Amino acid sequence: MADYDYDLFVIGAGSGGVRASRMSASYGAKVAVAEERFLGGTCVNVGCIPKKLFSYGSHYPHYADEAAAYGWDFAQPTLDWSRLIANKDKEIERLNGIYRNILASNGVTLYEARATLIDAHTLDVGGETVTADKILIATGGKPQVWGTPGFEHAIVSDDAFYLEERPNRVMVAGGGYIAVEFAGIFNGYGAETTLAYRGDLFLRGFDIDVRKHLAGEMNKKGINILWNATIERIDKVDGGLDITMSDGDIRQVDQVLYAIGRVPNTANMGLESAGVALNDKGAIVVDDYYRTSVDNIYALGDIIDRYQLTPVAIGEAMKLASNLFRGTNEKMDYGDIPTAVFSDPPIGTVGLTEEDARAKYGDIEIFRSTFRALKDTLTGSSEQTMMKLIVDRASDRVVGCHMVGPDAGEIIQGLGIALKCGATKAQFDSTVGIHPTAAEEFVTMREPVPQPEAAEAAK
Ligand SMILES: Cc1cc2nc3c(=O)[nH]c(=O)nc-3n(C[C@H](O)[C@H](O)[C@H](O)COP(=O)(O)OP(=O)(O)OC[C@H]3O[C@@H](n4cnc5c(N)ncnc54)[C@H](O)[C@@H]3O)c2cc1C
Repeated sequence: MADYDYDLFVIGAGSGGVRASRMSASYGAKVAVAEERFLGGTCVNVGCIPKKLFSYGSHYPHYADEAAAYGWDFAQPTLDWSRLIANKDKEIERLNGIYRNILASNGVTLYEARATLIDAHTLDVGGETVTADKILIATGGKPQVWGTPGFEHAIVSDDAFYLEERPNRVMVAGGGYIAVEFAGIFNGYGAETTLAYRGDLFLRGFDIDVRKHLAGEMNKKGINILWNATIERIDKVDGGLDITMSDGDIRQVDQVLYAIGRVPNTANMGLESAGVALNDKGAIVVDDYYRTSVDNIYALGDIIDRYQLTPVAIGEAMKLASNLFRGTNEKMDYGDIPTAVFSDPPIGTVGLTEEDARAKYGDIEIFRSTFRALKDTLTGSSEQTMMKLIVDRASDRVVGCHMVGPDAGEIIQGLGIALKCGATKAQFDSTVGIHPTAAEEFVTMREPVPQPEAAEAAK
């Protein structure tokens, strides 16, 4: 074997890159990682973590309102937005430090610089030439920008975490999970919030009942949702931004957040010179073992555009490190990946949507329950929780669990294990509920929803 500086050089110290680096080093490989921006990547700095902190924070005024029903009176809440940002920044700095220590304690060399490929074994790392036997590209993605006139006055999710002030009036453009989450966050923090989505129902790919239920609940919370609406232009004017919508309507806001998707970080990386093939979206093409079109170059995480989730990037990294430096030959199991959307109220989901289950199994049963949480019997809140189970009638297996309501992510994580184990509806039914909880509803739903076909037949 030729003499290289490293056994493995990782580009990008995000969720996937850090895990691949440290696991490979722990298996005895000589590893280096390059990071051009922030340790921990998107999730830690401008993704999951600050987003969830903002989401927690956005609920406090609501709790204060509800507390009265339970005998508590608090003074009218006031907001110090700069304290939120400072506290969030401090926590993220702490996490950055933890990532630095993880790399150091595993003997991984860290280059705080941009890395690009010169050829299949050679990199330019901040002006220095470095060689490696194997190279892993884990450079993630970045927010999609758009050619709308006046786009320069808008922000993307990266910027939303560093706003100096909470805008009083916000428009969020988009219909993916980041858009609905930020709409909930801004609304909870007291901004007059509009969500503009170009289609007729957001969260494509999620179960239809989840999508409809969330839309209804967001409306109840005062978020103004514009369907089939796009922004035609943005003009900076005295007092704010004038947003011209596709129907000609002009709306004035203080801030516009575009959350219209993410694009892979593959530009100007030297991938072409090394011969790494990309798909039509600019994502790196890999096989089941994260091998790119070049023998010794690998890629994983958001850059391969499979599931843009931190635990998936980490899972892929664990498999790759083990296969490369521990002699295993394992593939990642992408079945039944549970996910949450930290909207208000949140979504938890695992398994198939009703549409996909019908296409796959044909004969399915749906169990659905919509109810007011016990807590709200005193507060008077009209918020409704929705839970849904999808069952393959032939095998009795539960093939989809969906929830919109408080703690949905926490509840669905456990059901993810049940689905992974192939649990049947009979086993759900024989599980004793924990009372009084919302979660018990998942094991007490007995009557299937009449099927459209059955309803048709019954006419
Ligand atoms: C707003 C938001 C909210 C999210 N919320 C969730 C959530 O709740 N749950 C969840 O599971 N996932 C969430 N995600 C997705 C999650 O953050 C990503 O799936 C995850 O970070 C992907 O990890 P990665 O290692 O592939 O890439 P990243 O974490 O993006 O890491 C890539 C790193 O590579 C660096 N880099 C890029 N190019 C170079 C170069 N040439 N040289 C050196 N360094 C380079 C970047 O600076 C970055 O640090 C969210 C994402 C966003 C944007």
